[in-house]
Amino acid sequence: MADSHPALPPIRDVIARHGLAASKALGQNFLLDEQLLGRIAVIPGPLEGAPAFEVGPGPGGLTRAILRAGARLVAVERDDRCLPALAELQQAFPGQLRVISGDAMQVDARGEAGEGAHIIANLPYNVGTPLLVGWLSAAWEPLPWWASLTLMFQMEVAERIVAKPGTDHYGRLAVLAQWRSDARIAMKVHRSAFTPPPKVMSAVVHITPKPAPQGVNLKHLERLTAAAFGQRRKMLRQSVKGLPGALDALAALGIDPQRRAETLSVEVFVDVARVLSR
Ligand code: SAM
Repeated sequence: MADSHPALPPIRDVIARHGLAASKALGQNFLLDEQLLGRIAVIPGPLEGAPAFEVGPGPGGLTRAILRAGARLVAVERDDRCLPALAELQQAFPGQLRVISGDAMQVDARGEAGEGAHIIANLPYNVGTPLLVGWLSAAWEPLPWWASLTLMFQMEVAERIVAKPGTDHYGRLAVLAQWRSDARIAMKVHRSAFTPPPKVMSAVVHITPKPAPQGVNLKHLERLTAAAFGQRRKMLRQSVKGLPGALDALAALGIDPQRRAETLSVEVFVDVARVLSR
């Protein structure tokens, strides 16, 4: 694919030519290394002809890697200064890229990108977690509208997404990300790879959906994890006692109420939520 496309100028030159000095308020930390960007774009698997959705293309480094992989991409960018640079990519990849100028928090990603889209983004840190929670909370019928999530986060957020029971990072986000998806850290990215470098390391998380467990209502699972992890150092008999039916559900399942939330596996949370969902 790459050879059939016109050569593109280095991203550094694109940034200079369009005067795209990074804005801290917009969470702008740009990736310039095309090899690294190419490695991120293969994480979702083959993209030839597939729909894809990107949040925050910025000067278009990851965007061009996704386009080279052959995806039909919809990209939402809040910073209008980036639009001329993205228009150049539209010319280089005719018919493959649609750019929406706006706030990704307000855009209907499903409606814009279409069913089965791969979501791929180097997310702005200030909206990354709310966007992820929105995608993970989508209707699952029996799968969500998106095919996969390939998302760059600050390392600490990435660790919370993939955390296992018994670890400090294990909490509500881990349960939400793992009860009907597989979530893994696909790549660690050193802070020096970004311009400007952020204070902390980053990681690309890859999430693929699975059919949801039967009989479990997400709202009940969320209420349960909110209560249980809201007082994570307390025993369950204390932390979930305000949630109607929760102590009975623990008893019915033979779960010791003296345990603390962080010792419960995702599967056990799902079992308790299933009882609460009845
Ligand atoms: N994709 C580029 C890269 O990898 O080099 C830029 C990534 S930078 C971390 C985040 C991008 O998200 C910036 O271009 C920023 O302007 C954009 N952005 C910030 N908030 C946004 C929002 N609410 N909706 C859409 N884009 C946003």
